[in-house]
Amino acid sequence: PSTGTISIKEQRASLPIYKLREELIRSVRDNQILVVIGETGSGKTTQMTQYLAEAGFASKGVIGCTQPRRVAAISVAKRVAEEFGCSVGQEVGYCIRFEDKTTPDTCIKYMTDGMLLREALLDPQLVKYSIIMLDEAHERNLHTDVLFGLLKKVCQRRSDLKLIVTSATLDAEKFSTYFFNCPIFTIPGRTFLVEIFYTKEPESDYLNAALITVMQIHLTEPSGDILLFLTGQEEIDTACQILFERMKQLGNNVPELRILPIYSALPSEVQSQIFEPAPPGSRKVVVGTNIAETSITIDGIFYVVDPGFVKQNCYNAKTGVDSLMVVPISKAAARQRAGRAGRTGPGKCYRLYTENSFENEMLAGSVPEIQRTNLGNTVLTLKAMGINDLLGFDFMDPPPPQTLISAMEQLYALGALDDEGLLTRLGRKMAEFPLEPQMSKTLIASVDLQCSDEVLTIVSMLSIQTIFYRPREKQAQADQKKAKFFQPEGDHLTLLASFQAWKNSNYSNAWCYDNFIQARSMKRVLEVRKQLLTIMDRYKLDVVSCGKNYTLIRKAICSGYFAHACRKDPQEGYHTLVENQPVYIHPGSSLFQKNPEWVLYHTLVMTTKEYMREIMTIEPKWLCELAPNFYRGVDPNKMSKRKRAE
Ligand code: ADP
Ligand code: MG
Repeated sequence: PSTGTISIKEQRASLPIYKLREELIRSVRDNQILVVIGETGSGKTTQMTQYLAEAGFASKGVIGCTQPRRVAAISVAKRVAEEFGCSVGQEVGYCIRFEDKTTPDTCIKYMTDGMLLREALLDPQLVKYSIIMLDEAHERNLHTDVLFGLLKKVCQRRSDLKLIVTSATLDAEKFSTYFFNCPIFTIPGRTFLVEIFYTKEPESDYLNAALITVMQIHLTEPSGDILLFLTGQEEIDTACQILFERMKQLGNNVPELRILPIYSALPSEVQSQIFEPAPPGSRKVVVGTNIAETSITIDGIFYVVDPGFVKQNCYNAKTGVDSLMVVPISKAAARQRAGRAGRTGPGKCYRLYTENSFENEMLAGSVPEIQRTNLGNTVLTLKAMGINDLLGFDFMDPPPPQTLISAMEQLYALGALDDEGLLTRLGRKMAEFPLEPQMSKTLIASVDLQCSDEVLTIVSMLSIQTIFYRPREKQAQADQKKAKFFQPEGDHLTLLASFQAWKNSNYSNAWCYDNFIQARSMKRVLEVRKQLLTIMDRYKLDVVSCGKNYTLIRKAICSGYFAHACRKDPQEGYHTLVENQPVYIHPGSSLFQKNPEWVLYHTLVMTTKEYMREIMTIEPKWLCELAPNFYRGVDPNKMSKRKRAE
């Protein structure tokens, strides 16, 4: 079922949206707000912006299109630039956190929803835009939900602004109702039947089951590409390596299988390979996160393997603990995933769960992120925009009041809000950084502590998730190399030491390769560092080095992340000071098996247990010293559970 080589023009004309071009332009002209629904792959993301630019809207201002995911913003911008006949950053550009590929010539701008939110902070009326398209609205991403409320208001003030809300699912009524009963424009789909298979018993090891299924499809099914949904980068890398090894064992007797990972941390040259058709006689398998569910359309997929899980941010407002968790997907997501197999012809979807769990255990739809995540950053941003009545904010689905209150408590403890809940000067500065509040507080605190040069590096390293590389067949070797950088104070300083060693190698790629460090990630770290430096310069925050005085660095981190303090448990593992939750040191940490009495973690990851990643030793007295509001009246040496701040 290869499409052969058809020209871009032909490809554009073959999309379902093409026949509706004029009607769509007219609807945008006639209505200020429009909801557009259409199947994944119908051309919403790549075509609508171009149609509207061609119809003259770009002369009135930039046509902006938001994406919930970074990878999607980049990949779509690249594709549209190609179709438009320019290079990325000219007429068509993109903007994601720490990377702005736009110029004054840019008239079609793809960006993450988080970036548009930041722009709204500086320019609440978004005057440079003539049209804003909130794409993938069905994803109900946190930032998209906040933008709903903000843009609804902007539309009331700016009659010349057009707003388009697109969705791949049929929940459009809800969007229309929220946006003043605006019209709904439907792009008729073109989908083929997808045959669904379930497992008879629940799978105990879904990864293994998934890999067996992929190999079976490859060896027994007719041609057509495979899409496998997994939960995250490590899992995807492991899966790809195992597949690669199994194919190698089979030798030349079987057709070629191209194994292509897709997740957000992947460099974009590698990402774009997923769009290239597999050569005749071979097949490709794309192993990705749920980014391939609706954000990115890959043509030629006939087989979908769906283990039924997704990694999600989960926030417990009662305990204030944020954690990444692998959770079952919703029925709606399962249908979307299956639908990916039916775009080019009739397809097959292998669900690695039972029909019973699909029917009776899965939720109908996903819970909007705003109802299951920490809102610290959102509250800070809204406050910085002068929106103080958060409980009265026009959310499509309001977050639980307790989540808003706990976000405000968190910001109060960080010193970003005062007793009346208004933004402090520190809070205003914090809002300038595209970082979570604890991180921006850490960075600002490091200026006073005179260690901002080092902390800037650590913050940049923490912003990039994948520094160390640990291939399956060379794990021991990789671990040995990593251990060379271990610092007794913990992982934050290990990250610093690795960066400094790389710097001393004159930023060498060969050095990275030799040390099992991802050179591309390090390049991004440098980029992030440069960007943060610009913001620091702008606000006259000095960059000073503390040399080897690591205590200062640890204190700076503690002044942001004090709420993540944990104490060793007499029996086993650790417990958090907040609410006494049991937690454990991740085996990849430099403090694994060292078990210092007091530690502070950067993130929690829930797998079989709640694991702390990136841990650092602290002194308990710092907690009362640096976070008096939070640990008020607590004797650090008797401390086992925090007292709630009023
Ligand atoms: P929708 O937003 O409605 O899901 P898109 O506009 O993303 O649809 O996709 C329309 C078509 O463009 C699809 O057939 C898709 O495969 C193709 N396409 C999108 N991005 C790329 C790319 N980077 N390379 C090749 N084709 C692409
Ligand atoms: Mg799209």
